[in-house]
Amino acid sequence: MGADREPVTTAEEALAFDPDEVVAGEPCTVFIRRNEDGEVHTMSDEFYGDYIWADGNFSCDCNRSLFFDNIPWAGAHACGDTAFTVWIEDENGNRLYADDDAPKIERGES
Ligand SMILES: [Zn+2]
Repeated sequence: MGADREPVTTAEEALAFDPDEVVAGEPCTVFIRRNEDGEVHTMSDEFYGDYIWADGNFSCDCNRSLFFDNIPWAGAHACGDTAFTVWIEDENGNRLYADDDAPKIERGES
C-alpha cells in the first residue's frame, strides 16, 4: 500500500521530500521519545496526516504515553505537550511528520 517512491539516500533528499505527497493510510513508523530520559520507542502504524499529531488527540502526552508503553488507560500520563516528542517516517525513511523539537534528519552520505 506504500507510495511508489525511491528510498531516501541523502539528507538533502530527505529535506526536499514534500509531505503533502503522502497518501492517507500509508504505512509508517512512529518514533516516540520520552523526553525525561531520551528513550525512544517505535510503533508501526498508518499515517493519517499531520493534524492528529500536531493538534489533535495524538498531540497530547496522555495518548502518547499509551503508545510509548502500550499500557492501559489507568496508567496514562497526565495531559500536556512536553513529556513526549514524536516524529514519523515512511518505509523509505522519508519524514512524514515531526514535532518542532524532534531530532534533525542525520542520515545520508557525508
Ligand atoms: Zn491528554
